[in-house]
Amino acid sequence: MAEKKHVSGSLFMVSAPSGAGKSSLVNGLLKLEPELKLSISFTTRPPRPGEENGREYHFVSADDFLARKNRGEFLEFAEVHGNYYGTSKILIQEAMAAGTDILLEIDWQGAQQVKKQFPSVASIFILPPSIEALEERLNKRGQDSQEVISRRILAAGGEMAHAPDFEYVIINQDFEKALSELVAIVRATRCRTSQQTVRNAALFAQLGIQVNH
Ligand code: 5GP
Repeated sequence: MAEKKHVSGSLFMVSAPSGAGKSSLVNGLLKLEPELKLSISFTTRPPRPGEENGREYHFVSADDFLARKNRGEFLEFAEVHGNYYGTSKILIQEAMAAGTDILLEIDWQGAQQVKKQFPSVASIFILPPSIEALEERLNKRGQDSQEVISRRILAAGGEMAHAPDFEYVIINQDFEKALSELVAIVRATRCRTSQQTVRNAALFAQLGIQVNH
């Protein structure tokens, strides 16, 4: 799917190692910016306690996931911590066509694939304030087995090595500060001239401003 120049919706993606506080920040952002829609990914990971099919993820079997992949249904996909995760192409296409702003919560491998297809995507990486804080958050969450936690801590260094490839980096030391930075990035991205001239084309015309796309 190639990027269309004249779409009015903005595309955002947020990546982080497990335990950086990404989900809490994204939930906070969605409350403050209700027009921003979170893309619900497909995964072969089993649901955690409290997670619901179709809300956090579409939980599918490995066979189902691979069949979807072979049919070309994913905008991007990756294997993360031993499970497959992928973003539905059709859902993103429909949302972008409707001018909806979309947020992808994906890992760095998926982020690389999306950046190739949508060079103007606003990409944000969330870092923990220290490796100790990351371990503490993972242990405190209490939602994963010790084996899963250890695997995620081991993987964190490799994931964080990709932070410099992202357009923005947020250090999640103080939640409120990190959240206000995330909101600021979303609001600034919406004010990009390339977005405003499409979203507010009628106003630009009325004000007699010539727009060269
Ligand atoms: P979790 O199992 O903790 O929900 O997610 C594990 C990792 O998979 C996180 O880094 C998350 O961002 C990533 N992830 C979730 N959905 C997708 C997706 O659709 N594509 C890719 N590439 N990564 C995803």
